[in-house]
Amino acid sequence: METTQVLVVGAGPVGLTLAIDLAQRGVAVLLVEKNATSIQLPKMERCNARTMEIFRRLGIADAVRAAGLPRDVPMDVFLAPSMAGDALVHLPYPSVAAAKATIAANNDGRPLEPYQLISQYTLEPLLRAIVEEYPNIDVRFACEMTSFDQDADGVTAELRSAGGTQRVRAAYIVGCDGGASTVRKQLGIALNGQGSIRTLRQALFYSDELFDRIPMGKGRHYHIVKPPIFPFIIIQDSTKHWTLHAAAESDEEMTTIFRDALGMDVAFETLSVNQWTQHLLCADRYRDGRAFIAGDAAHLVIPTGGLGMNTGVGDATDLAWKLAATLAGWGGPALLDSYEIERRQIGLRNVAASGNAMSGRNTWRAAPTVDEMAARFDAEQRKVTEILGIEAGYRYVGSPIVCEEPGDGPDPNNNAYVPTTWPGFRLPHVWLEDGTPIHDRLGAGYTLLEVGRGTQDTSAFIEAFAAAGTPLDVQHIASPVARAIYDAELILIRPDLHVVWRGATMPADAARITATVTGNAALVRS
Ligand SMILES: Cc1cc2nc3c(=O)[nH]c(=O)nc-3n(C[C@H](O)[C@H](O)[C@H](O)COP(=O)(O)OP(=O)(O)OC[C@H]3O[C@@H](n4cnc5c(N)ncnc54)[C@H](O)[C@@H]3O)c2cc1C
Repeated sequence: METTQVLVVGAGPVGLTLAIDLAQRGVAVLLVEKNATSIQLPKMERCNARTMEIFRRLGIADAVRAAGLPRDVPMDVFLAPSMAGDALVHLPYPSVAAAKATIAANNDGRPLEPYQLISQYTLEPLLRAIVEEYPNIDVRFACEMTSFDQDADGVTAELRSAGGTQRVRAAYIVGCDGGASTVRKQLGIALNGQGSIRTLRQALFYSDELFDRIPMGKGRHYHIVKPPIFPFIIIQDSTKHWTLHAAAESDEEMTTIFRDALGMDVAFETLSVNQWTQHLLCADRYRDGRAFIAGDAAHLVIPTGGLGMNTGVGDATDLAWKLAATLAGWGGPALLDSYEIERRQIGLRNVAASGNAMSGRNTWRAAPTVDEMAARFDAEQRKVTEILGIEAGYRYVGSPIVCEEPGDGPDPNNNAYVPTTWPGFRLPHVWLEDGTPIHDRLGAGYTLLEVGRGTQDTSAFIEAFAAAGTPLDVQHIASPVARAIYDAELILIRPDLHVVWRGATMPADAARITATVTGNAALVRS
């Protein structure tokens, strides 16, 4: 029987990202996708700041930006009577170029990368092309995983393709197989929350001229005040493609709604119409033995707030290094246990944040007058577009591989991003004196950052990690800015950049801390 280390089911954005991360860590991956091609329809279009940081670490951020919305197009959001009129409300958000300039000019701990608008139908083929470059990823499209069994040593799965059925053996299986996940269903894992809230239609249009002819300004989202439908128009990455979301009675009606929302004579072509259903659901469990679920297989959000794929990319980056470490032999059992503990709380939190963003939208749409609607839009729409804390400021509370500090710690559900090295948060970005971002200095293993005077004897950590066979890089960063923002002399960071321990001086129990953060605490006698 054919064997691999990790069988990834589903080549959507989450499965593709997971495969790349695993492959870069030297893991052999079999990635199967039941469809013959990548997605053709529009779905997500905005990679958030944290996803772009993750893509930067994978070395693919520049490729994603090159394929996405041109860097000088603003990301503004408008409320307007039609595309031809003046805006009732105009919320300005910077283009990637402007956002990058602001990040470059400030050294205050804000995230390293800004968002990037890229349509899912552009991102998926791009990630697929990247995946196909890796010799240790065997990627098979038109290949469906139909069932699997697991035992103490691995997983045996049945794959169906044009050539017939085949059984493969893997150490682990990860279901990145979307909302109807076969892996989740076979494990009997339930989704909880609100399912099938509302079904909408989404249409994709092509217009050579619309982008240049919008008088109110260039932007990303145009909400049109035409109750009760409230057409919602979104720019796609080419600036020639546009999507419309509306609760229409028929596919044909979408073209009429779009023409009416334009309010001016603009040539366009309707390319596709499809339906999609809103859910706010999270899986009860993310793991069963050697089987895991990630992305939409584990959580389904309303896209308002853009927390669907972005949450899934976070799952992928959390799971990849833990699987790689376990396969390499140094990752203890608590590493894989921590995946569900860390990521399910973020799934639940982001489902709630999406619900919050959606209720904000419903609030302004229900306003009795246009003036009141504009006032409510100004306040409520920010719950969709100004949630950097939700996107990049998440913290793993109660993780068995994070050395918690006494006290409540900073609010892990803050909409605003507040840089902190409280254990469980991701290390904030800081520009170093030579102009490089600290994130680019951190390798694929653990890093012990010494951010103070450089007088600490770090040999106890070096010895403990060496004894555990775990990669550790010790770096002394002589940066007053980092010292001020990080508020600690020593910070231990794990491969996905989350802080696992920090202190003012070397701890007396470096060996125990090492055992904890590598998932081996249960194996150490006290
Ligand atoms: C209208 C809309 C707008 C959105 N906007 C945003 C946004 O701006 N930002 C954002 O972050 N998210 C957004 N989302 C959500 C985003 O599209 C999803 O969260 C994302 O696609 C999830 O990725 P995934 O890889 O987990 O699952 P999917 O994209 O669903 O991929 C799963 C893959 O698994 C394959 N598969 C399923 N079963 C099997 C099997 N048994 N064997 C082999 N292959 C299988 C499927 O064919 C599919 O290709 C939006 C969604 C919609 C509908």
